[in-house]
Amino acid sequence: MLEVCNLTVSIEGLIIVRQVTFSLERGKTLCLVGESGCGKSMTALAVMGLLPENARITEGSVRLNDATLTTMSERQLCTIRGRKIGMIFQEPMTSLNPVLTIGKQVREAVLQHEQISNVAAQERVVELLSAVGFPAPVERLADYPHQLSGGLRQRVMIAMALACSPEILIADEPTTALDVTIQGQILVLLKRLAHDRDMGLTLITHDLGVVSDMADQIAVMYAGEIVEYTSRDAFFARPLHPYSQGLLACLPDMEEPNRRRLPTIPGTVPPPAARGTGCLFRERCPKAMPRCSSPVPRLEVESEHFVSCHFYL
Ligand code: SF4
Repeated sequence: MLEVCNLTVSIEGLIIVRQVTFSLERGKTLCLVGESGCGKSMTALAVMGLLPENARITEGSVRLNDATLTTMSERQLCTIRGRKIGMIFQEPMTSLNPVLTIGKQVREAVLQHEQISNVAAQERVVELLSAVGFPAPVERLADYPHQLSGGLRQRVMIAMALACSPEILIADEPTTALDVTIQGQILVLLKRLAHDRDMGLTLITHDLGVVSDMADQIAVMYAGEIVEYTSRDAFFARPLHPYSQGLLACLPDMEEPNRRRLPTIPGTVPPPAARGTGCLFRERCPKAMPRCSSPVPRLEVESEHFVSCHFYL
């Protein structure tokens, strides 16, 4: 349904996202995983056609069914956003308008793409809020965002994103700002909605616990590139890229949480200006070797299990 092929995004000549390739099927969940600054959100914004003014796509394509989004005008993209692809953001408080009631904000999202009467729009608002588990929606339509908890605000954001029944929902760290119990509820909700509506879900996260619960496919990003791409089962059974192995090694062992000191991956993600050729992980990689400073091949090591690493040549 969604095919992203060799997508490259630059900001003022610096490459931020390089040759990103993945696809998403109806009813499935793809998790984009990686540390902060790895290009996950920029990839999502490029797919939505919502890049900041100084950023542009310099290579590659984004296709949704038969349409190529990357060659569309802003006007054409407006008909796709919301109607075909919805997006929810990390921090609902800054994404909702603080001076409009939630009823009005969800109604605006509905009327943006559907020409229906005010009465029908109001019914749709209540239906959407009920679908996302918002309690007593009729009584709370006049509430302002500041009167809601973080979890309820995120439910409003999800209701707005679903307003036009998108085929794809992109959720950028949707639970980061929420406490753990609410996180679980929102993730279960997203999974149920994706399943019930046969919607593709792209979930951006740095939390491998969330990935393990949610993903059908996993794309691990590092310094703007996808370094490993495979199914959830293959990833957790046999992670191939040293970065993926490092991320998994950093997880606590729930059976013996106090037994060992948690390892970390030394160093930080290189900033765009310091990224040359060769493997961008080599300064941090325990398996680095001289040839790692030359361009890295994308290898299909096992069926549908792709990794960008010289180690598997
Ligand atoms: Fe490590 Fe080399 Fe593989 Fe990069 S290409 S992850 S440096 S082994």
